[in-house]
Amino acid sequence: MSDEADLPPKQRIDPQALPPKPRPRPQDPVEQEFWERCQSGRLHFQRCSACHAWRHLPRYMCARCGSPDFTWQPSSGKGTLFSWTVTHQALHPAFAAEVPFVAAVVELDEGVRMATRLVGCSPGEVTLDMRVELDFEPLGDDFLLPVFRPAEAEDSRNEP
Ligand SMILES: [Zn+2]
Repeated sequence: MSDEADLPPKQRIDPQALPPKPRPRPQDPVEQEFWERCQSGRLHFQRCSACHAWRHLPRYMCARCGSPDFTWQPSSGKGTLFSWTVTHQALHPAFAAEVPFVAAVVELDEGVRMATRLVGCSPGEVTLDMRVELDFEPLGDDFLLPVFRPAEAEDSRNEP
């Protein structure tokens, strides 16, 4: 992270002065349910009841077998970085204080891929296939947005 004190005064951004970040706008009830489930602090994906394939984005029919039957299953929240890009320009003013940031596609251990943001590391620390884990970013007081951060080292996870 760059040190704000190193920037000339005009480039300092007061996060309090920024507009709120836009929230997802679900287009149908099944997408709405995906976001509602995130508000419990867990990430869920649909899983086909017929062939057991996980899926994302939310949809009404299994792309593998065509079954309309599914359940919502909790994700492990763990995965690998499948792809990313570093965004240097805020295309929405709410993100002005966060550039550069990492827009990412994470492949969850369940096999589904999800567009998200990688937080908790600088763009220079990002590597392909790095292990990542789920976190939630609060947007205001009443919305949780799933994001990912570098996973703690697997071999030190249980150490104090
Ligand atoms: Zn299926």
